[in-house]
Amino acid sequence: MSDKTETTDQPLPDPKKRRQTILSGMQPTGALHIGNLEGALKNWVALQDQYWMYCCIVDLHALTADWKNPKVLKDRIFQVAVDFVAAGLDPEKCAIFIQSEVPEHTELHLLFSMLITVPTLDRLPTYMEKKEHLNSYGFLGYPVLQAADICLYNADKVPVGKDQEKHIWLAADIAGRFNNTYRKVFNLPEALLTKIPLILGSDNRKMSKSYNNHIPIDATEKQTEKILKSYYTDPEKIRQGDPGHPEKCPVYLLHLVYSEDPAGDIAPDCKSGKLGCVDCKMKLAGRMNETLRPIRDRRSELEKHPDEVWDILAVGRDRARQRAANVMNKVRSAMKIDYRGKKK
Ligand code: SF4
Repeated sequence: MSDKTETTDQPLPDPKKRRQTILSGMQPTGALHIGNLEGALKNWVALQDQYWMYCCIVDLHALTADWKNPKVLKDRIFQVAVDFVAAGLDPEKCAIFIQSEVPEHTELHLLFSMLITVPTLDRLPTYMEKKEHLNSYGFLGYPVLQAADICLYNADKVPVGKDQEKHIWLAADIAGRFNNTYRKVFNLPEALLTKIPLILGSDNRKMSKSYNNHIPIDATEKQTEKILKSYYTDPEKIRQGDPGHPEKCPVYLLHLVYSEDPAGDIAPDCKSGKLGCVDCKMKLAGRMNETLRPIRDRRSELEKHPDEVWDILAVGRDRARQRAANVMNKVRSAMKIDYRGKKK
């Protein structure tokens, strides 16, 4: 297994060398929130000029948790695609596509599933945490499908948060086993650890739709204000005049992302008590709305032209399939299961 990682503030690959490939995936959960935007999307947008990017909307992964309700997927996929493009992913530079429209994902998943043992998967923290509620074969095999997603494009790097790093090690491990068992086909992918701002939700927990504590990218300016007004703050600062502790406050964490000089114009006045929480939240609302306005405008334009969005997904699918078919030909040939291929 590889334990080499890099962060995106390290130098990017030498442009004279081979251009590397990145695979990024996101589940179709419907319209995204600012945690997704700041934690993943903005980073992908920054990477698309230096790497071959494959941005996959992983609908099959979504089914592992919610297999009884597939009819919601179409609209959710559409919303995620809209957010991808509105945030700045350029379909000319990166393939934006739906996982299940490239059936090679499932084929490689099956072939990879022979190379890993059930106890190894059973010990992964993400499975252990949820196995009480989700103990299906599909959920157990989720990281194997993830390994297939990555290796199908022979990706060099996968931008992830620290909590997903083990899954990238697993993908590299499976790719290495394949290479050793048959013939070298795969690069050993590495995590591209992303420096992401900590974005907490209105209840001071991780921002998540499932906690209903999130700020949707597509919220109106008024809705954004309303959500911010409901935000948890430093519990020791009850009223204006009380000294506050910005380092304990999720509103301040958002100022760190959206305000130009929070250390100079928010923290001192919070600490001294001069700034009250309501005024602080309204300053934040103004800055956040200003930053999100161009993305929201692009979003509503795209929603008016759904065919364009589905076309982007079709073009992405064709590009992804081309690359996937090429890699799968090598896989079948290495395994000697290309029965009608040339004699070797
Ligand atoms: S003034 Fe702002 S940073 Fe300070 S506790 Fe209130 S909301 Fe948080």
